[in-house]
Amino acid sequence: MKRAATIRDLDRSLAPARKGGRRIGFVPTMGALHQGHLALIAAAREQCDTVVVSIFVNPTQFDDKSDLDTYPRDLKRDEKTAAGAGVDVLFAPSVDEIYPESFNTSVNVEELTDLLCGAVRRGHFRGVTTIMAKLLNIVKPDVVYMGEKDYQQMVVVRQMAADLNMDVEIAGVPTVREPDGLAMSSRNALLSSAERAAATVLSRALLIAKDMVSEGCTDSRTLEERIRLMIAEEPLVRLEYLNIVDPERLRDVAEVRGEAVIAVAAHLGDTRLIDNVVVRAEGA
Ligand code: AMP
Repeated sequence: MKRAATIRDLDRSLAPARKGGRRIGFVPTMGALHQGHLALIAAAREQCDTVVVSIFVNPTQFDDKSDLDTYPRDLKRDEKTAAGAGVDVLFAPSVDEIYPESFNTSVNVEELTDLLCGAVRRGHFRGVTTIMAKLLNIVKPDVVYMGEKDYQQMVVVRQMAADLNMDVEIAGVPTVREPDGLAMSSRNALLSSAERAAATVLSRALLIAKDMVSEGCTDSRTLEERIRLMIAEEPLVRLEYLNIVDPERLRDVAEVRGEAVIAVAAHLGDTRLIDNVVVRAEGA
């Protein structure tokens, strides 16, 4: 595995792949790599000739300074994990490399970013789309792999790529969960053991709602009530939002017809977690 800390290094490392017209798969991450990231890397490994992973804790997407300060970082461990997963090039630039003092541009997707996480994390998606636009220009991949765990992020980046005529495919990878159902996340490491135990209520509630939809319950209010009741039983979990939305525009739906996404965000102590399930009403 080649390591690149600068854009020049990265260009040098990728020159043979670019020259050879090889299919480049790209997995952008903020590090603290876990099985969720590894699923994205495995998909890229399977479908592409050259796999690039970036590790960059992007300061512009943090609306909360203490979240940025406490975000888990372990580059040495990540290097080993990435090498073991068959990554060809690991790009881990400094903040100065990405945002030199003269930096003065941002990319913003409208409307989709006012909903769900965007309604509470002001400026977050502007940071996400700005770094993604930069990374896509820097790496120039054929395919970028993104997790459905961050469903809204994936939809927002797809919108950006389409609107700006970016010649890249955005591939979505299903959420990888712990054996007890908790969606894998770098932030799970910040939970106390009591919070970690309580956190499973999020996926349990979502999966029950998913079963309800499979069994024919398509009324959003009924589904939401069931989820709220379950989450309310866990005093350590403070629900931030719960929405049942259409999978493309992320607008609330009163009834599940075809596919919908049930998305939640919750706080456990100082840690904020998100999760979602894609549900499908049979026969719709
Ligand atoms: P992050 O390092 O948290 O910014 O995530 C980098 C990429 O990994 C994003 O596309 C995430 O959606 C994806 N990802 C994070 N957690 C998971 C998970 N549990 N399952 C699948 N993909 C994930």
